[in-house]
Amino acid sequence: MKILLFGKGGQVGWELQRSLAPLGELVALSTDSRTLCGDFSNPEGIADTVRAVAPDIIVNAAAYTAVDKAENELDLCRTINATTPGVLAQEAKRNGSWLIHYSTDYVFDGSGDKPWLESDPTGPLSAYGKTKLEGEEAILGTGCKHLIFRTSWVYAARGGNFAKTMLRLAQERDCLSVIDDQIGAPTGADLLADVTAHSIRSALQRSDVSGLYHLVAGGETSWHGYASFVIDFARQAGLDIKVAPDAIQRVPTSAFPLPATRPKNSRLNTRKLQNAFGLDLPHWQSGVTRMLTEILEK
Ligand code: NDP
Repeated sequence: MKILLFGKGGQVGWELQRSLAPLGELVALSTDSRTLCGDFSNPEGIADTVRAVAPDIIVNAAAYTAVDKAENELDLCRTINATTPGVLAQEAKRNGSWLIHYSTDYVFDGSGDKPWLESDPTGPLSAYGKTKLEGEEAILGTGCKHLIFRTSWVYAARGGNFAKTMLRLAQERDCLSVIDDQIGAPTGADLLADVTAHSIRSALQRSDVSGLYHLVAGGETSWHGYASFVIDFARQAGLDIKVAPDAIQRVPTSAFPLPATRPKNSRLNTRKLQNAFGLDLPHWQSGVTRMLTEILEK
């Protein structure tokens, strides 16, 4: 079996290189790959790549993810997040391949406090969210076999992340202000990659699982709750933490104005995915604990 992976160097793409490897021959590309085009700003080049490789499965971990910059770079963001995924879907349809793609809680307007279902109405608040929704629609419109996973608050041990920033600030400052009115579930890139591999194996047996799924870790928290968890863990692990527990202040989103509006309710209901693939999604604290253990051991 042949798998074509795009965006191999991103948080999720990096973990997919590991989790997809046992499934078959893996061709993994990035923006600057030489022999085959991996650049999503070039939809025709990407179509040529799919035709040349003729994969059984296409996994798209490439995306324009600079959420604030996207407000001023809508055309490029749209090409990468919507036009090229649409081209991938057309090629998948033509070739009979599966297309695996990732989307986001930013397709919702963040209202209410219930976990969003896949069938709930969308209402993106940002250019990034709009283009990610357009990407979903472009894929669905082709009728190719697909798994689209909407996720949120993705972190990875590799590279920079929110937890590392909090750990640094907690060692430098007496007081921290962290947003407390956005609620979601921190989700590890490793969990996304592992669930992707499991789901692909199921999909190869049962093409009726083709569809859109919400995929996040279990439980929920705010950025303040996430930061407090990370800092408590580091304190207990013996790190020289300067900020006292009661000096981590809760602030509203309005305290940190940014170009792109974020949804306040990023809760995603994952029942459909757990039922379809027979999976139990672990609570967010278990993945974050594992990531912190890796970071602090270095
Ligand atoms: P990253 O920002 O870590 O990685 C994005 C990847 O896209 C990189 O490998 C990057 O490659 C690639 N990319 C960017 N521009 C291009 C281009 N022109 N051509 C080809 N590749 C390009 O993102 P994540 O791994 O976190 O995200 C994976 C998926 O999950 C995306 O679909 C994203 O929308 C979605 N998602 C992410 C969330 C998050 O919190 N991060 C939340 C919800 C959904 P390079 O470095 O070579 O440019």
